[in-house]
Order: sequence, then C-alpha cells, then structure tokens
Amino acid sequence: AKQKGRNIFQLYTPELSTQAQQRLVLEHSLYKALERQEFSLHYQPQFCLTSQKIVGMEALIRWHSEEHGWISPAQFIPLAEETGLINGIGDWVLETACQNIKKWQGLNSIIVPIAVNLSARQFQKNDLVKTILNLLNKLSISPRLLELEITESIAMQDVQHTVSVLRNLQKLGIKIAMDDFGTGYSSLAALKYFPLDKLKIDQSFVRDLTVDSQDEAIVKSIIALGHGLNLTVVAEGVETKAQLDWLESMGCDLAQGYFISRPLAESDARAVMG
Ligand code: C2E
Ligand code: CA
Ligand code: CA
Ligand code: CA
Repeated sequence: AKQKGRNIFQLYTPELSTQAQQRLVLEHSLYKALERQEFSLHYQPQFCLTSQKIVGMEALIRWHSEEHGWISPAQFIPLAEETGLINGIGDWVLETACQNIKKWQGLNSIIVPIAVNLSARQFQKNDLVKTILNLLNKLSISPRLLELEITESIAMQDVQHTVSVLRNLQKLGIKIAMDDFGTGYSSLAALKYFPLDKLKIDQSFVRDLTVDSQDEAIVKSIIALGHGLNLTVVAEGVETKAQLDWLESMGCDLAQGYFISRPLAESDARAVMG
C-alpha cells in the first residue's frame, strides 16, 4: 500500500504536471505552426569522395515558433508523429522540397537530387506513392531529383507493405536511402528485405573514427557490406578532416556533416550547387 501510495503521489508532483503542461503548450503551438508558416527547410550538402563535388542535398525541417523560438526537429517530429500532425507537416515538407527543386530548375542552377525524410505515419499512408507522383507531375520535375530517406524502424513496421511501396517508388525513378543505418535491431534483415539505393551510416559510428578502432572496424564492414549489395554508402556526421580522409581511404562514397557544410538556407544551398 505504501508503494502504491508513493506512485500515486508521484503522478501529481509539480514537476511532472509542468512537463505534461509544457507538452500540451508545445502541441498547441505545433498545431498552429503550419498556418502561421513557421516552418522552413534547410539543405545539407552531400559530398562525393571520388569526384570531390556536391552530389546531393538532404532537406531538414526547421521550426521557429512564435511562442518558443527555435525548436529542434528531434523534439517536435516525435510529438508530431504521436499527434498525427506529421501528416500535414510531411506533406508540407514534400511539397516545399519539390517547389524548391522547381525554383532551382528555373534559375538554371546545377541541380542535385534532394533527399526528403519520411516519417512512420507518412509511410503507412496508402496514398504516399500517388501523392508523390501527383506532386512530380504537377510541378513537372524529374523523379531523379527526389530521394527519400526511411529508417529501419519505419521499414520494419510492415515488411510487405514497405517492400511494395519502395518498389513502386523506385519504378518511378526515385532513389531510396536507409537512414541511421546500424542503430536498429534488425539492420541486416532490413538489407535482406528492402530494395534500397543508399546506406547512410549513422553518425554515432562516425563520431569517433580515427580515435576508436572498434568504430573503425564497424564502419569498414558497413562500407564493404553496402558495396557488396551495390549500394551507395554515405557517412553522416562527418565533423573533421581526419574523419573525411579516413572515409575516403576506405572507399566510402559520400560524406555529409558539419566539416563539409552545416544545413543551409535555400539561397545558400542554391549557391553551393553552382
Ligand atoms: P537525420 O535524418 O539523421 O538528420 C541528420 C541530423 O544530423 C540533422 O539534425 C543534421 O542537422 C545533423 N547533422 C548533420 N551533420 C552533422 C554533424 O557533423 N554533426 C552533428 N552532431 N550533427 C550533424 P536535425 O536537422 O536537427 O534533424 C534531426 C532529426 O529530425 C533528423 O535526423 C530526422 O530524423 C528528423 N527530421 C529532420 N527533418 C525532418 C523532416 O523534414 N521530416 C521528418 N520526418 N523528419 C525530419
Ligand atoms: Ca535523414
Ligand atoms: Ca541520419
Ligand atoms: Ca536520426
């Protein structure tokens, strides 16, 4: 009884109610954010270690809230996912990324493919392929300029559904990247089941390259594994020249990270592409 009493008491500590309240307040702001036009997209370059050129960009959402200032996607994307607000936000991200591709095309910039992160709910929706196809047609942009990033946990939720959606997207000419590779529970099974084009080595393995020989062994193996499966291998979170040189010497294909460039606002991203 004493134990139970303590647990009940804990439910009503001011700290917890404040936390719950903060969540509600954030949720309310998030609910308003789309119509208030508080979101923007930044673009982080992907650098090819053989051609020494920028060959892609990852679109990353940014939120400046009227009430809370800048909130990181690591904080609000999970909340958006739980509440279902991600459906609207995800559509906005896809549409905005494609609008930017179109804008860059019109400005005769050298355009590289733009990778968009998909959330679990977005991926579960039955009309995802149709939505994307309609968007590409509406804006008349080539599917080769759009890439999609999914995570293992998204892919594993319903393996058969995932395989068929990925096949349909690839049939359109859209490239698929497996994000945060190596952090899930079934990374190898994911490689076995899913049709993929790219593997993104999670930044947790890249952080201590050139310092930690275990991470080096893991990254070496992922590169070999990816190449054995004919996939383009991307290292995420590259922050130093030493890491970049190491990855290049190991035959990694692409690198992304602060050492190459932080995520850039649209006009700066356009300048980097040339
Ligand atoms: P992610 O897809 O793994 O994206 C990479 C994250 O690493 C980004 O954080 C990026 O800014 C950060 N990063 C890039 N280079 C470095 C580096 O050298 N060092 C370090 N420490 N970090 C680096 P960001 O933009 O805060 O996004 C966090 C996560 O939020 C993303 O992880 C992704 O899971 C999610 N996210 C971001 N934008 C979107 C979106 O438009 N839709 C969905 N569904 N999720 C998104
Ligand atoms: Ca990503
Ligand atoms: Ca990632
Ligand atoms: Ca991540």
